[in-house]
Amino acid sequence: MALNIKDLCINDCFGCAVCAKVCPKHIIEVRLNKDGFFQPQISSVVNCIKCGLCVDVCSFYNEGVALVAQQVNAFAGWSNDVAVRQKCSSGGVGFELARVALSLGYKVCAVRYDVDQNVAEHYIATTVEQLNESVGSKYIQSNTLIGMRQIDPNDRYIVFGTPCHIDSFRRYLRKIRKEDNFILVDFFCHGVPSYLLWYKYLDHIKDRIGEIKRVKWRDKKDGWHDSWAMDIQGGTGHLYIKMSDGDLFLKTFLSDSCLSKACYDNCKFKYSKSSGDIRIGDAWGRLYRNNSQGVSAVVCFSKKGLSLLKQSNCRIIKHDFEQIAEYQMKENARRPLIYPYVQQLLRCNEPLNIRRLRLLLYIHTICRFPKRIITKGTKILR
Ligand SMILES: Cc1cc2nc3c(=O)[nH]c(=O)nc-3n(C[C@H](O)[C@H](O)[C@H](O)COP(=O)(O)OP(=O)(O)OC[C@H]3O[C@@H](n4cnc5c(N)ncnc54)[C@H](O)[C@@H]3O)c2cc1C
Repeated sequence: MALNIKDLCINDCFGCAVCAKVCPKHIIEVRLNKDGFFQPQISSVVNCIKCGLCVDVCSFYNEGVALVAQQVNAFAGWSNDVAVRQKCSSGGVGFELARVALSLGYKVCAVRYDVDQNVAEHYIATTVEQLNESVGSKYIQSNTLIGMRQIDPNDRYIVFGTPCHIDSFRRYLRKIRKEDNFILVDFFCHGVPSYLLWYKYLDHIKDRIGEIKRVKWRDKKDGWHDSWAMDIQGGTGHLYIKMSDGDLFLKTFLSDSCLSKACYDNCKFKYSKSSGDIRIGDAWGRLYRNNSQGVSAVVCFSKKGLSLLKQSNCRIIKHDFEQIAEYQMKENARRPLIYPYVQQLLRCNEPLNIRRLRLLLYIHTICRFPKRIITKGTKILR
């Protein structure tokens, strides 16, 4: 008799929810755990038929990476549509891949932000208008199950996700022999921050600008290299804070002090390790350091991926993988010295102690970059 994810005590996993998608009895639910990350849970153990599918598709439990790359073709790329390039996080290649896939008869499973629930979630787009909701990186973990439940594997889809999600999803497709119907796209992934931080940050912001109506995490007003910026529309005001001006959410995320345990201890997808047909990201690095509009790093690991990229409305330039992935993380993030103190702040029932968090981030910056002077003001526009 096969085991299930509960028998194997699969906790603090990637939270990709592919186990819940595959479960024939629909008894796996996905909820935020006490650390603020999505986790699967068997809601009715008595109804489990011990088919073992939930474990078979689990990237966290199974070793290695599901895809053996047929080829590695690396490019810098950007959308030929200036407006698309401007509104996307990097060069807009992610959007163009989805747009051309739609025109070829695929449906798109991508990520949007739900302002009512304040979560990122996977959803299905079948028109370019619906696809517009996926534009821009949401630097929080997505609830993947909402979109995945709507996927009919007999149809054709392009699916976007974190590398761990895409790896489990490929295991699922292989199991049901439907890989040919799908194109899978992941990204160079820093890791995902905790919803404990996101919710405390939003509470702090809501006090100043009212209920949240729209959120953007990146903005190229001041160029691509300085594009980390929280742009939040509230009911009574508008908030725009760049990371370089001290935004607390982005600084805490990128200080690595509140990532998921699995991002530190179990990620196996850094740099060139991917189960995607295509990997996208920012072409940070010396090649495009003077570019201000945004350049995507694009790596095709399969013929299918390469063919889709070539049909998309993108300018692409071939480079060596090492050049295009310069400055991407080669190893998993490590917990910094301030980690336990930040965790304390996030777990307590009090509102976010802004002064203490700023102090911790200051100490962190001093330790990492002793010569850098940080924190300017924040701007509230009403
Ligand atoms: C949590 C996170 C960490 C990242 N870390 C890195 C990194 O270390 N290095 C790097 O170069 N790039 C990283 N990226 C990717 C980068 O931010 C861009 O998303 C990517 O380059 C695509 O940009 P684009 O201009 O092609 O299109 P955009 O339109 O900006 O891309 C958006 C695409 O990303 C998908 N997406 C958005 N949010 C999420 C999410 N939370 N989970 C899954 N998919 C999502 C959307 O479905 C859409 O397809 C990260 C993205 C996220 C969400």
